[in-house]
Amino acid sequence: MDRAQRLEYLQAIGIDVWVPRPGTAAAALMPAPGAAPAHATPADEAPAVTVSVDAAAAAADFAADIAADTPAPESPASSTPEPELEEQWEALRAEVLGCTKCALHTTRTQGVFGVGNRRADWLVIGEAPGAEEDRQGEPFVGRAGQLLNAMLRAIGLQRETVFIANVLKSRPPGNRDPKPDEVAACMPYLMRQIALLRPKLILAVGRIAAQNLLATDVSLARLRGQVHTFGELNTPLIVTYHPAYLLRTPADKRKAWEDLKFARTVFRRLASQES
Ligand code: URA
Repeated sequence: MDRAQRLEYLQAIGIDVWVPRPGTAAAALMPAPGAAPAHATPADEAPAVTVSVDAAAAAADFAADIAADTPAPESPASSTPEPELEEQWEALRAEVLGCTKCALHTTRTQGVFGVGNRRADWLVIGEAPGAEEDRQGEPFVGRAGQLLNAMLRAIGLQRETVFIANVLKSRPPGNRDPKPDEVAACMPYLMRQIALLRPKLILAVGRIAAQNLLATDVSLARLRGQVHTFGELNTPLIVTYHPAYLLRTPADKRKAWEDLKFARTVFRRLASQES
């Protein structure tokens, strides 16, 4: 991944890059002009968050490192043979798509199972499908999904290499918050997805996902910056902002970037402990 591309990813999530004035000492340390966009302002959001060249360089290095360090998908640490695992995934998917366990099945267009690499190390969990997800049958395909993709790319992860799912598999009408009985009905599907996937790290995006996964009403602000664990496998779980929130509150993108870097550090530590 070259520098221009990495800066583009950071700018895509609204982390704007500060460049020193020509003639200053800092400018002398910069690569030749034209190597990267000097200073770009995201077209759709203002104000962008500005970071120093050092921070941008560190972030760029970080993106490069994780791209280089992300190993090819490994077999899940399970003795279940691959074809059998695939059958279990397909059976689960069929169950989810045909589910009538809560009233949401009467208003949804279709169930939204989840998407991505079924052997992924990273599992991203959101809240529930929105209008576009309900229409297309895939999580995070609307504007928030575009930002989520950019956030993942900023830490060197392509959307296709992770698995993305939601707490709820059916859209709540008008995108209202999930009700407790809906979460209770749907959570077993997510648990089974996690049991099949056996991810190394869960990234919970948004308050609703985080609070439901951790069975707490502690604020998102207080849940950030820690390694929680989820389920019987004690899967490490890290919390960050929901991309839809970040679209409304771009000033918090900087904090989301800190969360992503933290998640990447934790992931690397886990990977090094395994090897
Ligand atoms: N928000 C979510 O939490 N999930 C989606 O799939 C889309 C938007």
